Amino acid sequence: MKKFQSVRGMQDILPPKSKAFRALEDILTSSVNQFGYHEIKTPILEETGLFIKSIGDGTDIVEKEMYTFVDSKKNSFSMRPEGTAACARALIENGLHDSINRLWYLGPFFRHERPQKGRYRQFNQFGVELIGIEGYEADLEIINIVNSIWKILDTSPLLKINTIGDIKDRKKYIEVLVKYFKKYQNDFDENEKNKIKINPLRILDSKNDKIFNIIESAPKISEYISNESKAHFNNLLESLNKENIDFTLDEKLVRGLDYYNKTVFEYIDNKRNTQNTICAGGRYDLLFENLCGKKVPALGFAIGTERLLEYLDHKIYGKKEYHFYMVIINPSDLQYSLNIANTIRNLSKKYIVSISYSYGNLKSQLKKANKLSADYCVIIGSDESDNQNCQIKNMDSGKQDTVSINKIHEYLPSITE
Ligand code: ATP
Ligand code: MG
Repeated sequence: MKKFQSVRGMQDILPPKSKAFRALEDILTSSVNQFGYHEIKTPILEETGLFIKSIGDGTDIVEKEMYTFVDSKKNSFSMRPEGTAACARALIENGLHDSINRLWYLGPFFRHERPQKGRYRQFNQFGVELIGIEGYEADLEIINIVNSIWKILDTSPLLKINTIGDIKDRKKYIEVLVKYFKKYQNDFDENEKNKIKINPLRILDSKNDKIFNIIESAPKISEYISNESKAHFNNLLESLNKENIDFTLDEKLVRGLDYYNKTVFEYIDNKRNTQNTICAGGRYDLLFENLCGKKVPALGFAIGTERLLEYLDHKIYGKKEYHFYMVIINPSDLQYSLNIANTIRNLSKKYIVSISYSYGNLKSQLKKANKLSADYCVIIGSDESDNQNCQIKNMDSGKQDTVSINKIHEYLPSITE
């Protein structure tokens, strides 16, 4: 019989990984909540044109990574490869883009890439967007948010930061860059030659050692940045210094999407060489103008949650929970036991009660509880149901007590704290 498997590059997330995933999502969402950000949920499918217009048609995403299909009415739709374009679309569509918006999103994204560790065809991103503030203070807020997340997670990936100036600066720079690359035409492979034609900036973050020297000696974008962009960037860097936030200036950092300008940044795992960007973001003051003709300053970032979990070695724990395993000896005590289970659950969200329905043999049920790493066993036999109580056994110390139903609330806190 045919055995079905998950689609290449798409993975199931099973317990206990799913638990780490959920704990991470809780940390991410609760920390941005404290900065006054609100959730936005947008559909998985968008018109393909939205991504072409936003991300740009010379980018890897639009050129080859989107899952696109044409429906029976000949409309082209794509599964979202990133979240920013849809946020902008939703704000414009709902007439909200005139005010300041602080938004976050979390969910699956899709890119047809070569699957490998840290690179999947369906992956999750946690993204944050701050829309409507032109000043460098917004850039500072965004970086402060990411740093506060690293603090909670007790980690400190390296912040690489750069400014790519405004669109006029970039146009000038690209002309100079292309001229420079032309001198070394024979050193580039076909793929790189194509990139020079459609997205020459992207050559700068190439990982090909053969062109390392060419890139190192290339003209620097900083020489083409306008005074206004320079001042914005310097103000930001000064504030980062004042806040003791470490960063590395990286002139080769350009980011792959067309909508970026001014500040761009990445947080990388400096222990590994490949797929090491955990979080990436930047300013995109041109996106709204491209989509609706109105200038709206904005910036944001996205964290790849699978990559972040791998970076943390899945060592992330939510608040300690207490697992109770309920052992029932006689089927006739089921109703009595279910009531006790609910009583315990209602006492605290930290109390997890699961029930064994195998009845009979106490020893084998206790063995199962051990296997499941239960913290406590709640044992119910006919004596217990006759006397309106239960046995609570601490699986760590082995201590076992008879506890009356109406005393459970007094008994549990004292044994769990
Ligand atoms: P990369 O250079 O690694 O391809 P990117 O520039 O395409 O990254 P963004 O579009 O900025 O990445 O996405 C933000 C974050 O989402 C990345 O830093 C990464 O953590 C994560 N991410 C991007 N693509 C994938 C993928 N295919 N699988 C898993 N995570 C991904
Ligand atoms: Mg990519």
